[in-house]
Amino acid sequence: MNRDPSCIFCRIVAGEIPSRKAYEDDELLAFHDIAPWAPVHVLVIPKEHVASFYDVTEGHTPMLGRIMALAPRLMRENGVTGGFRTLVNTGPDGRQEVPHLHVHVMGGPRPWAKG
Ligand code: 5GP
Ligand code: ZN
Repeated sequence: MNRDPSCIFCRIVAGEIPSRKAYEDDELLAFHDIAPWAPVHVLVIPKEHVASFYDVTEGHTPMLGRIMALAPRLMRENGVTGGFRTLVNTGPDGRQEVPHLHVHVMGGPRPWAKG
């Protein structure tokens, strides 16, 4: 599996940096954001290093579909009933801070810290 040893999310996948996991399988990892915008704020990532949404190709379609299908399940499992937001920041103008593809999934009662 493609991995970047300097990438913080690859290091989370490898267990070198601790995280509060919400879901894991062979292909995907979901963990709680360290600085949540909302009462429930989960990041869903491919375990493989894909730098951003720009780097997604046709071959990533099943992985992306699985991430989107996982989002509502994660929200339900974490008690979110009133709706949620799903966000992918891409590149510098998209305010992407961590260069490993991730989908933010945020929910829970308002007010939120951001968003
Ligand atoms: P971006 O701006 O790249 O879309 O979002 C990156 C997100 O990763 C931010 O919301 C930030 O709080 C979160 N984050 C950065 N480093 C860590 C970390 O070490 N652990 C966890 N759980 N979240 C992180
Ligand atoms: Zn990575």
